[in-house]
Amino acid sequence: VLEVKNVKKRFGENVILKGIDLTVNKGDVIVILGPSGSGKTTFLRCLNLLEKPDSGELDLCGKNYNLQKVSNKEKLEIRRTSSFVFQNYNLFANKTVLQNVTLGLTLARKVKKAEANEIGRSFLDKVGLAGKYDYYPAQLSGGMQQRVGIARAMAANPEVILFDEPTSALDPELIGEVLMVMKQFAKDGVTMIVVTHEMGFAREVANQVIFMADGVIVEKGTPEQIFDNPQEERTKTFLKRIL
Ligand code: ATP
Repeated sequence: VLEVKNVKKRFGENVILKGIDLTVNKGDVIVILGPSGSGKTTFLRCLNLLEKPDSGELDLCGKNYNLQKVSNKEKLEIRRTSSFVFQNYNLFANKTVLQNVTLGLTLARKVKKAEANEIGRSFLDKVGLAGKYDYYPAQLSGGMQQRVGIARAMAANPEVILFDEPTSALDPELIGEVLMVMKQFAKDGVTMIVVTHEMGFAREVANQVIFMADGVIVEKGTPEQIFDNPQEERTKTFLKRIL
């Protein structure tokens, strides 16, 4: 579905990504772990062109892009194929839950309103928000808002969903409901790349875990390999600190 090579990114003097490669197959659930500041979020944002990489080559569903110079048209193509779920939900405060989910369909994809509403409602139902269609984001808990964010990402029918620390803004008691929704979609075969600090989710749901530090991939493997038998010193130190 997605193959990316040699993604580099610096902010000023600060080199954040030093050449990241990643291959994602259909149905993969890839979890990216790593210390704060290691570049996980920046990498994910580069994949979706929310940041402009300094170099990188992306193969997405059979099309090849030079990430350093994508045209606006290509940017739209990439964003149509991969949806992004934001740490802080990024919902429109003045739109209803249903409008938040359907806006991308009616505006960007010219789906007819009735059809968009049908798609939107079905995904809201799937994330457990049936009956909340006409609420505004501020009337919902953070966990519900993030589930709207996930429904919106799913409604776009992407090949892959990029989750950027989807639960890190949530109170602890609301994290589980969001992880459960993600787990359900993973079970249904949705391809996803997830940056998270939720080790339980990584162990249980991921088929590949990637450990990043200082802008490089230090180690990758199955959850068993990474959690039970890490090979690299930096991985061991990180896991010791957080598990
Ligand atoms: P965390 O787990 O804390 O979110 P992370 O691994 O996701 O960490 P990033 O958010 O990718 O790390 O940030 C990596 C580094 O890049 C940090 O030092 C951060 O300060 C820097 N950085 C990120 N975005 C920008 C920006 N827009 N301008 C300048 N520096 C930035």
